[in-house]
Amino acid sequence: MDNSHILLVTVPGQGLINPCLQFAKNLVAMGVKVTFTTSLSAIRRMNKTTTIPQALTLAPFSDGYDNGFEDIHEIESFSSAFRIHSCQAVANLINASADGGHAVSRVVYTTFMPWVAEVAHDHHIPSTLLWIQPATVLDIYYYYFNGYGDVITKNSCDPFCPIELPGLPLLTRRDLPSFLLPTDYYNFWIIACEKHLDMLDAQKNPQVLVNTFDALESDALRAIKKLNMIPIGPLIPSAFLDGKDPSDTSFGGDMFQNSTEYVEWLNSKPESSVVYASFGSLSVLSKKQMEEMAHGLLESQRPFLWVIRETDQNGKNIENEVSFMEELEKQGMIVPWCSQVEVLSHPSLGCFVTHCGWNSTLESLVSGVPVVAFPQWTDQGTNAKLITDVWKTAVRVTVNEEGIVEREEFKRCIEMVMGDGEEGKEMRGNAKKWKELAKEAVKEGGSSDINLKAFVGEIGN
Ligand code: UDP
Repeated sequence: MDNSHILLVTVPGQGLINPCLQFAKNLVAMGVKVTFTTSLSAIRRMNKTTTIPQALTLAPFSDGYDNGFEDIHEIESFSSAFRIHSCQAVANLINASADGGHAVSRVVYTTFMPWVAEVAHDHHIPSTLLWIQPATVLDIYYYYFNGYGDVITKNSCDPFCPIELPGLPLLTRRDLPSFLLPTDYYNFWIIACEKHLDMLDAQKNPQVLVNTFDALESDALRAIKKLNMIPIGPLIPSAFLDGKDPSDTSFGGDMFQNSTEYVEWLNSKPESSVVYASFGSLSVLSKKQMEEMAHGLLESQRPFLWVIRETDQNGKNIENEVSFMEELEKQGMIVPWCSQVEVLSHPSLGCFVTHCGWNSTLESLVSGVPVVAFPQWTDQGTNAKLITDVWKTAVRVTVNEEGIVEREEFKRCIEMVMGDGEEGKEMRGNAKKWKELAKEAVKEGGSSDINLKAFVGEIGN
């Protein structure tokens, strides 16, 4: 390989680190030098659980929150500290690598950190956005800031009003990224999205690498003529895509527990019989919701593996308990963490109840497991829409007037996905189809493989 050197920068959230790490590993396997930088707190946790190839250089920086932040409401102050520290770190790494004789030839940065492109620009180094959400979500943000803002805002007042955007399926309010809704606490992140789009707008031929694959989002990838969206995913540990014995799983932080116990439990269950339930690192369900979910799982009368987190992504304890644990553990297994890709690819898996984070959504498709979709916020409503109505491998739960999903609803949805009805059969058939298409995309000569090689070739030139 030539002298290409990619500096990869990401926000320290787990949902970004997992695909980034896989992206880095794919590049290293192609002989590219990669320096991967993010917060020290994330790299510390990553080092404990993940195999890092020798050729991959980890360059952590302190963001001022080395032990994580106390409360999700601190996220705004954390974000501004992270911004300042990451700008400095990127500048330092660019300068140090030039001094060391192996200058950075491209900076790749992930969703929600557009300022990195400015730092790269100031150092005369080209940069590329790696978008870790579906292409459809980037399209929606693009439309919002380019002529459709009023349509989206006006039509999202009414939950049933259809929102028509060129090249995308018909949406309603619940299908929109939550940051576009004025009621969303975190809608300051929309400013970061706007900045991303401004940065892309300022480029001559704006290119975005997207963690998706061509067959999955063919129309959405081409919906915005001005953006050259290049699908290079799914960014999932290759062991799961190759169907080989998985040895290298995902970054689970220090909550990662010895996997033998739950794998043995899964081994003891019949094929396609287990319900796996897990929610995102930033999604904490209310006590009432947890109890309804627990009853729903019990009433489904199926074995279940349920991830109930004891700590958040910073290792801080969270209130996330159910009062009748003993009863639950007679029918299912409860773990604080598991290797999700490993669980999903286990033959005993029959259904995945998920918050529809983009990684979890892709992982369900790659494993061919149908889904009960229970989205919470950010891109999850859009992901739920896609997996339910476009890829048709899922059913979405309905919430009651209080915003709670009741036990009967969980039971109904699990039965629909796993039972003998026509809908379930169709979802399971579609899930198998997407599994094959995902593998096709990343194998040698597949669409994502070709795209990544072309990107690497372009940097080399
Ligand atoms: N994950 C895991 N074990 C768990 C829960 C989650 O390995 O018990 C992984 C999961 O495989 C996925 C990531 O954590 O790769 C979560 O990313 P996602 O985008 O689905 O959700 P987020 O946490 O960003 O909301």
